[in-house]
Amino acid sequence: RQAHYATLRDVEPVTRDGTRIAVLMNAGLRDDMPALAMTGADGIGLFRTEFQFLVSATLPARERQTRLYRDVLDAAGDKPVVFRTVDIGGDKVLPYLRHNDGETEENPAMGWRALRVALERDGLLKVQARALLEAAGGRTLNVMFPMVTEPWEFDAAKAVFDSQLAFLKQQKKLLPEAIRYGAMLEVPALAECLDVLAPRLSFLSVGTNDLTQFLFAADRANPKLAERYDWLSPAIMRFLRRVVQTVAPHGTDVTVCGEMGGRRLEALALLGLGITRLSITPAAVGPVKELVRKIDLREIREAMDKWLAEPPRDLRSAIAEWAFYRGI
Ligand code: PEP
Ligand code: MG
Repeated sequence: RQAHYATLRDVEPVTRDGTRIAVLMNAGLRDDMPALAMTGADGIGLFRTEFQFLVSATLPARERQTRLYRDVLDAAGDKPVVFRTVDIGGDKVLPYLRHNDGETEENPAMGWRALRVALERDGLLKVQARALLEAAGGRTLNVMFPMVTEPWEFDAAKAVFDSQLAFLKQQKKLLPEAIRYGAMLEVPALAECLDVLAPRLSFLSVGTNDLTQFLFAADRANPKLAERYDWLSPAIMRFLRRVVQTVAPHGTDVTVCGEMGGRRLEALALLGLGITRLSITPAAVGPVKELVRKIDLREIREAMDKWLAEPPRDLRSAIAEWAFYRGI
């Protein structure tokens, strides 16, 4: 694996018509960090902070969280890291974090999880905010919130960071040089209010794993439904294109951090929608960088506009055929 990574490490992901695509990687543990240098990814576009909570028998103490975040930033060096605040609850129930009434949920993916837990258990987010702000002292902190459904939830989560920042300032601690706050778009409802939220965001990250399961009302973990929808369906493509168009006037960066971005035809299609930032599994970084070099952006954008205006019955086959004839 290491040898394979090395051959593609220095490939520059520039399209044939000269656009530099950001190819970032997803991570969640200290052990993932060496892959950053090995793959030559541009940074960590999604650091899943809940991994530390999931492998721990008790709620990780603030000092332990700070240490992890600092180690991750040290390992990344000059490359950016986007920390996602905990996405626990739902199907990732922790023994030390239970519902008040002790009930289990019938639909955990649509349940008490992620930001919903964090905003209710204020202490959880406060501790994490403090750990992230301290770990990023003297550096840039990029932080994003999962499962934002309405704009006020973003504001409420950011307010927790603001108050921790004020506290650290009062304590004369070393503060981050810059803080960039982003939202994850995973719940379709947020797309309807994105024009309201966009001016307050430093960046938007689209979590297509959750987004597609909600768009299609099809559980992402249910193998019986795996054939029920396709990432390359006109509905998903049109939805994502509208998201890109909505935030474009605000100059907000859009990254896709779901698994689809690491697949060949899906990555091609996303570029065709005007997305220029992908955060993907480390093993896909090299292959996607290579793919980018074969693509003419103008060409795929034109083709995508045509397909989405009058969707073929099988968009995947249309894209596959298009790519085949161009040797992509
Ligand atoms: C997603 O939902 O697409 C995502 C990146 O987050 P996760 O897979 O951790 O839910
Ligand atoms: Mg998600």
